[in-house]
Amino acid sequence: MLNKKSIEDLNVSGKRVLVRCDFNVPMNDKGEITDDRRIRSALPTIEYIMKNGGKAIVMSHFGRPKGEPNPKYTLEPIAKRLSELLNKEVIFAKDDVVVSDKTKEIVDNMKESDVVLLENTRFRKEEEKNGEEFAKQLASLGELFVNDAFGTAHRAHASNVGLSSQLPSASGYLVKKEIEVMGKAMSNPERPFVAILGGAKVSDKIGVIENFLDKVDSLLIGGGMAYTFLKAQGLEIGKSLVEDDKLDLAKELIQKAKEKNVNLILPVDIVVASEFNNEAQFKTVSIDNIPEDMMGLDIGEKTIEGFSKVIKEAKTILWNGPMGVFEMPNFAKGTNAIAKAMSEAEGITIVGGGDSAAAVEQTGLDSKMTHISTGGGASLEFFEGKILPGIAAIDNK
Ligand code: AMP
Repeated sequence: MLNKKSIEDLNVSGKRVLVRCDFNVPMNDKGEITDDRRIRSALPTIEYIMKNGGKAIVMSHFGRPKGEPNPKYTLEPIAKRLSELLNKEVIFAKDDVVVSDKTKEIVDNMKESDVVLLENTRFRKEEEKNGEEFAKQLASLGELFVNDAFGTAHRAHASNVGLSSQLPSASGYLVKKEIEVMGKAMSNPERPFVAILGGAKVSDKIGVIENFLDKVDSLLIGGGMAYTFLKAQGLEIGKSLVEDDKLDLAKELIQKAKEKNVNLILPVDIVVASEFNNEAQFKTVSIDNIPEDMMGLDIGEKTIEGFSKVIKEAKTILWNGPMGVFEMPNFAKGTNAIAKAMSEAEGITIVGGGDSAAAVEQTGLDSKMTHISTGGGASLEFFEGKILPGIAAIDNK
């Protein structure tokens, strides 16, 4: 995946450049963008095209309009925010069918360094089916294609994979950084290489654990998924989250780690609560002392200390999944402590997207990380060692 063309390999001067971004940002009920990180992450690519006299025709999906136009999912507010961030008017090509004669006219009238944003690509049914006709219509608007949407790279859609087969293509700066930083960690990491995994379920991360067992020196497991591993080792886990049908698998993974000389580290103490509720009574107990009527909702102080030590001694650190129910302040300590340990580590620090990225932002430590992935599902599939179709489709050098 590292031999892909990048935007700098294209001559964008005077050209109409279609740019696929991932502007699937969180929005509140009033239609206000609550976190514009994904839009900010796309700026270097768009600015490069502007500076080099190209014409940027930007597109994205947003939400799940299910293949039909829906004003709730229009990209209009995103065009506004993009204008503010670029400090330049972004022409919004409002169009229920995304591409029509009207859109073509807007694009034909573009001058060098202009930016046009198309309407939500998911207003068209063909988008998620990678329909060739829609890809051709999009391609008719431009001369070059730049894929800068890492968040959708694990899907083969018309506006990423389809377009790559219609036009000369390259990665944008964001996709380039995602695949370079994470690709190096997965293929040629500086050691010691440590992965920290958390989140609710083992079943969502089996592929990631299996792949990591072939690559890392240490694997730290926290969050809800840790209790299945603890139970598999014969411990009583009270009312904690558990997947009983994954106990044998957990045993196998523990055994595999031993065979492969991977230091698999589980919590030694946890914060238990009487209920799944921030107001519930809670205390820290050692893992062989979990009360029958309580549930583990965070990792304890000793575990934090142990995990932090391993993190600080590592040269490559990769994190995916919260250590506890971080949405509740009483059970966010473990997750925040991991973010802090990573921010103080000298090694390369990579945060997989989704909840862990949100947790790092909550602590305000995001600028201290080497890389925070913009892709939740895409980064998980990347960590599983899968080939991402959106990336694979980009032209090779
Ligand atoms: P995931 O989407 O698999 O990364 O899981 C993230 C979710 O796991 C978050 O919403 C957390 O609140 C939840 N979580 C983390 N630790 C626990 C736990 N000990 N018990 C229940 N849920 C947890």
